[in-house]
Amino acid sequence: MTVKQQFQAESKRLLEMMIHSIYSNKEIFLRELISNASDAIDKIYYRALTDDSLMFNKDDYFIRIEADQANKTLKITDTGIGMTKEELENNLGVIAKSGSRAFKSENELKDGYDIIGQFGVGFYSAFMVADEVTVISKALGAETAYKWHSDGADGFTIEPAEKAEVGTEITLKIKENTEDEQYEEYLDEYRVQSIIKKYSDFIRYPIKMDVTTS
Ligand code: ADP
Ligand code: MG
Repeated sequence: MTVKQQFQAESKRLLEMMIHSIYSNKEIFLRELISNASDAIDKIYYRALTDDSLMFNKDDYFIRIEADQANKTLKITDTGIGMTKEELENNLGVIAKSGSRAFKSENELKDGYDIIGQFGVGFYSAFMVADEVTVISKALGAETAYKWHSDGADGFTIEPAEKAEVGTEITLKIKENTEDEQYEEYLDEYRVQSIIKKYSDFIRYPIKMDVTTS
């Protein structure tokens, strides 16, 4: 049996904010996930600079986005450095380093709206548009891949998984539309492409996306 682990208190509060989507500019989740993917590729790139046994062949490094209308999933795959079991546990269970560490007091948390706008909230922003998030990752040099899964603020599980290539694959189960909120647009390839164009034009690695022609 896989045991459900709890998020840290601070992370849990941020996650709850994301789940209840107090922030209206939800599309930024994609910017956050793409920037993490790009950071992960940077890490393997810098590793290759100092490690002669590692070849950095630019064509092998990319980010792929796949929308699956039938299953209502959006998948972001990168060929970056990946995460070990411990890294999945520690890095995805804590509050974003770059941005949301800015959360210091209860007051600041209440004013989260601005903080999110200014810094970005990182990985947890996925929960603005998804009710389930699955991360399958294989770290550089690791033999086993691991799967991190969470369907909300009450915790996450980690278990061994199959993945041939080093890197990370993040699958978002996109929320269903409600009367007030549209989520299914994040499964629309053209909508997704325009978000990428808007926020991730400067990313140094190719962002691949197959567009279905009908
Ligand atoms: P930040 O990017 O500011 O550190 P995030 O919440 O966006 O915060 O991500 C938290 C951490 O999770 C990252 O610092 C990184 O260690 C890890 N991480 C997230 N996405 C990936 C990924 N695609 N590949 C490797 N590590 C990742
Ligand atoms: Mg980030």
